[in-house]
Amino acid sequence: MILNTIRECDCAGKKVLVRVDFNVPLKDGVVTDDTRIKAALPTVKYLLDKGATLIVMSHFGRPKGQKNPEFSMAPIAKKFSEELGKPVILASDVIGDEVGAQVKALKAGEVLLLENVRFYAGEEKNDPDFAKALASFGDIYVNDAFGTAHRAHASTEGVSHYLPSYAGFLIEKEVKFMGPLLENPEKPFVAIIGGSKVSSKISVLESLVKTCDTIVIGGGMAYTFLEVQGHKIGKSLVEEEYKDTARSFLAKAKEKGVSVILPVDHLCGAEFSDTTPAVTIDSVEIPDGMIGMDIGPKTVALVCAAVEKAKSVVWNGPMGVFEFDNFANGTLTVAKALAACSGTTVVGGGDSVAAINKFDLADKISHVSTGGGASLEFLEGKVLPGIKALEK
Ligand code: ADP
Ligand code: MG
Repeated sequence: MILNTIRECDCAGKKVLVRVDFNVPLKDGVVTDDTRIKAALPTVKYLLDKGATLIVMSHFGRPKGQKNPEFSMAPIAKKFSEELGKPVILASDVIGDEVGAQVKALKAGEVLLLENVRFYAGEEKNDPDFAKALASFGDIYVNDAFGTAHRAHASTEGVSHYLPSYAGFLIEKEVKFMGPLLENPEKPFVAIIGGSKVSSKISVLESLVKTCDTIVIGGGMAYTFLEVQGHKIGKSLVEEEYKDTARSFLAKAKEKGVSVILPVDHLCGAEFSDTTPAVTIDSVEIPDGMIGMDIGPKTVALVCAAVEKAKSVVWNGPMGVFEFDNFANGTLTVAKALAACSGTTVVGGGDSVAAINKFDLADKISHVSTGGGASLEFLEGKVLPGIKALEK
């Protein structure tokens, strides 16, 4: 997958329409976490350095196609301006004559932030007229909102039909690190998949089994696999209706010669709670009444040994209920193994990324994906409409 990127676009003196992800947390009208604003700055600053004038756009929250002032971009414009170190003009609306006049009045190098694109139903419907109205503001379109690239919305996909389209640095990096995992990963390639449910992870397992050498199945989803292998799983999470899927996945992995690491021991609790003490079960068999809540020390060692030898590793989904301190060890130790791995390491998925941040290891991972749903769909091998629009 080769994208058109802003490195190749001549934007001097041009008006550039830039889609960013400024869907930030807000409390009492103040941005409480500016990670996403900071993440967009390299692209924004690069375009300004090259002499572009910017029309920036994003969604924020779920105003459901209505102009709801609660979801105005005003507080975000303020924070963006502070971070950027120059004025940001907030547009009076998203589209329309008044905004058109504001765009016309922009001087070279100025930055205009459109109002919340989801103030119009045409955004999520990917309405061509709405997309055309947005596109009319720019000469060039740049998308750097990876987190919404799995949605074919007007600002993420629609506008690309009317303007030359380029990827910003964030999207470029996502594709640079995740693309090879599906095509030609450096080997050995280890995929570590966990989290709560088989149903939400089966597609990613089926995608990665095509290119990986070893696949680790941990977290709550592991017990459905253990049960179909005939093991006792006590009161652990199980998805009855996914047993056939689990069985055929294991057969497929075997046929492909991919080695599957499932838990060989466990940390169990008597009940699913924060205060339940962890009991180490030094066997694959879980006693009646107990719940498997983390992988045990022998399993941790198996996973770490595989990671140590790997040239590439992808990790999606925690190994246990890491939110409970008593059951965080598996996730923490595997996270540390990734941090110490000399190969390329990629972490994607909302809770896995939260775990990496909680353990303060993000800067030791080659790539921490900025999209939850988008990175999962990417790893599933799905075509992301917002990225397809930027392909050469
Ligand atoms: P991600 O967001 O990284 O893709 P998921 O949303 O699939 O991950 O899964 C994360 C959730 O899985 C966490 O809230 C975690 O507590 C839960 N989980 C992990 N192991 C278990 C387990 N053994 N039993 C129940 N839930 C688990
Ligand atoms: Mg999650």
